[in-house]
Amino acid sequence: MTKLRLAIVGAGPAGIYAADLLVKAERHFDVSIDLFEQLPAPYGLVRYGVAPDHPRIKGIITALREVLDSGVIRFFGNVRYGVDITLDDLKKHYNAVIFATGAIRDASLNVPGIDLEGSYGAADFVSWFDGHPDVPRTWPLEAQSVAVIGNGNVALDVSRILAKHADDLLVTEIPANVYEGLKASPVTDVHVFGRRGPAQVKFTPLELRELGEMNDVDMIVADEDFELDDASKAAIESNKQVFVINKVLNQWRERPVGQASRRLHLHFYAKPLEIVSDGAGRVAAIRYERTKPDAAGGVVGTGEIREIPIQALYRAVGYFGSPLDGIPFDDHHGVIPNHEGQVLDDHNEVIPGVYATGWIKRGPVGLIGHTKSDAMETLSHLVRDQANWWSPADPSEEAVPALLASRGVAYTDLEGWHKLDQHELALGASDTPPRLRIKVVPREEMIEISRA
Ligand SMILES: Cc1cc2nc3c(=O)[nH]c(=O)nc-3n(C[C@H](O)[C@H](O)[C@H](O)COP(=O)(O)OP(=O)(O)OC[C@H]3O[C@@H](n4cnc5c(N)ncnc54)[C@H](O)[C@@H]3O)c2cc1C
Repeated sequence: MTKLRLAIVGAGPAGIYAADLLVKAERHFDVSIDLFEQLPAPYGLVRYGVAPDHPRIKGIITALREVLDSGVIRFFGNVRYGVDITLDDLKKHYNAVIFATGAIRDASLNVPGIDLEGSYGAADFVSWFDGHPDVPRTWPLEAQSVAVIGNGNVALDVSRILAKHADDLLVTEIPANVYEGLKASPVTDVHVFGRRGPAQVKFTPLELRELGEMNDVDMIVADEDFELDDASKAAIESNKQVFVINKVLNQWRERPVGQASRRLHLHFYAKPLEIVSDGAGRVAAIRYERTKPDAAGGVVGTGEIREIPIQALYRAVGYFGSPLDGIPFDDHHGVIPNHEGQVLDDHNEVIPGVYATGWIKRGPVGLIGHTKSDAMETLSHLVRDQANWWSPADPSEEAVPALLASRGVAYTDLEGWHKLDQHELALGASDTPPRLRIKVVPREEMIEISRA
């Protein structure tokens, strides 16, 4: 029986599900899988994207962990593809590679003033509050009035973390530096802007409802945003999700406000035109145009310009993938060009032995569960493409750890991750009051604990 030596790059849900599905797949060959991850810890955006106050979603880690612990997969953490290991290395030691490198950068937003001081990408802020090792430990939280541009779940996560009182986050796994940063924040008003109406948002109902449950934060919505056009009425009637969102928003319209020390304002039909400078290069206001429905599900400008003073701004308009050495990249969509997971060259021809899955394959949309169906599609090709696999010169399992060691790469393994995991759980348990986990943030400390 042949053996498939498979390298997977990226230990987020897409990479881990791909490994799991391959192990369980009906196939006529053995498999051995090595999972390479640039961070010392696995789980990608489940650990470093999903908000800390979403413990149920973070709980998906338990299922992912079972896959890693199944005994068939080797984990090489703190190994960056393109730096510590190259495509030539992979070709020498494996039959094929799946790239599952996701997306961590912010998509850009073309609005004048977006580069002013005090204007941030949501992805960077998320990385900070989720304790990503590669971002600075401190975050400038000096603004009283903050704008968040975007009407998707990441915009809600960012707005919620900004508006929530730090003490209400203490039950979560937030690192100490994050708690301290948020605790000192003078924020009183968070303004969320969406170009379209309440029936066209991309939030999910659960995430939206959660905003209204924050302690000492008023939800502010404007009656003028609820004069619904026919397209919006039809959407509310035909789509359960939109129906619930509309219901939640309308409940907030009825709520008494004025007692809370913080407010979260939802501005619909508001198209950002410019981020206004204070004259010294800092964010001072957001100028936006009021829009109205165009009867075709979109919006048009009304010419009415408004301005709200702010001292910080976050754009939450999507994530974007990063190119990988030696692998084609679609600069426009931020993905690896592919046909159902088979990576394509510049002439749209399938490149043998190279596959993609997850956000780097499909773009940064969709929930964790979607990466499973993604992986299934990619694997169906990998399993059938046996004739196109690479023929590695040295497929021995010892070769790769030896190679990494010879390059001085301080890689972490599964046992190391267990040590770090236990360490974080113990830190949480010994806190007063006890918490489920406290994350270790500095990369060197993560590596030191993992390799002890
Ligand atoms: C802020 C935020 C909140 C979210 N909240 C939810 C939620 O509540 N519920 C939900 O279902 N979904 C949520 N999602 C979506 C979910 O996180 C994604 O669907 C999922 O993580 C995508 O999986 P992935 O494996 O493709 O990418 P990722 O999770 O990004 O994993 C990619 C991995 O590849 C690694 N990598 C990248 N480049 C290299 C390299 N060169 N070498 C080695 N390794 C590399 C990265 O470090 C990372 O670990 C959220 C997303 C974001 C951004």
